[in-house]
Amino acid sequence: MMIVMKPTATEEEVEAVLDRVRDAGARAHVINGEELTVIGAIGDREHVARLGLEASPGVDRVLPISKPYKLASAEIAHGQRSVFDIGGRPVGGPHFALIAGPCTVESRQQTLETARVVRDAGATLFRGGAYKPRTSPYAFSGLGQEGLRLLAEAKAQFGLPIVTEVMDARDLEAVLEVADVIQVGARNMQNYTLLTEIGRSGCPAMIKRGLASTLEELLMASEYILKEGNESVMLCERGIRTFETAYRFTLDLMAVPVLKEMTHLPVIVDPSHAAGRRDLVLPLSMAAAAAGADGIIVEVHPAPDEAICDGPQQLVAAEFGAYADRVRAAAALAGKLDTESIASETLQLT
Ligand code: PEP
Ligand code: MN
Repeated sequence: MMIVMKPTATEEEVEAVLDRVRDAGARAHVINGEELTVIGAIGDREHVARLGLEASPGVDRVLPISKPYKLASAEIAHGQRSVFDIGGRPVGGPHFALIAGPCTVESRQQTLETARVVRDAGATLFRGGAYKPRTSPYAFSGLGQEGLRLLAEAKAQFGLPIVTEVMDARDLEAVLEVADVIQVGARNMQNYTLLTEIGRSGCPAMIKRGLASTLEELLMASEYILKEGNESVMLCERGIRTFETAYRFTLDLMAVPVLKEMTHLPVIVDPSHAAGRRDLVLPLSMAAAAAGADGIIVEVHPAPDEAICDGPQQLVAAEFGAYADRVRAAAALAGKLDTESIASETLQLT
């Protein structure tokens, strides 16, 4: 159930409703919007309905949440979009996040060089994997703890908050030392015990859509994190499997406007893993930004030909500044703030 407070409701009135919901054995989640507060009561619907909360001071309405994903649903946010503070950077709502960095942390020099380049080009967050999901068990699977140490060094030196993947809950504690956003890889989207642990950690998370997952399944995955009281979840479209064989995955750009209809959570697009090819990354990024994505996560490497993994798709660091300008210009078209000063001529395709 969703308890919509009046815009004039006081903190005490909100607290009183929370106490009653919890006493009825339900979990209460507060969503503080700009104009009003909404309380999501997750538990036995009948118990909550019997409380007669409509009559409580400060309560405007009590409504059922019709979707199976409750806390993620657009309904509960009453038209407001979630905005998170990630290490001092706003993500979501009117803001456009450019998340960039290598596929994997390979060495000190490669990590610091890429962090410097993307910081200078105005990236919002720095990405890099220390734990890598690989199709082959014989392939390089990341530097692990040493990779985390290098990410911490990049953060200390260049100030960009870090997005990094955790594959196994046993590594969570170590990853939390450096991560500002925990990435859940596409292959782990339905690892529910991992999602629950990330929810409990309270660390902002980005969930990548599974290779063959529906948008509803993606939202149900986010619900596992949200239900633990962790409100900061971003969703990422990274390409899905279709019958098409001319490219690696099919980037489902329709997911951008449709997810934004379904949920208040920020929607990020990863063109790199969808394409698997560098030359497709710019047009896909521009299309995603123009479609209203809240951000792009993209792979960048100083010398992609020498990269240990995903070389063919990583942008060349020296070309990243020009790429970033074009993508921000496309985001400006979709009405994102922080991008408006970008001249429309940057949009011209050459
Ligand atoms: C990645 O971001 O490096 C990655 C492995 O992504 P995905 O889980 O989408 O394949
Ligand atoms: Mn990669």
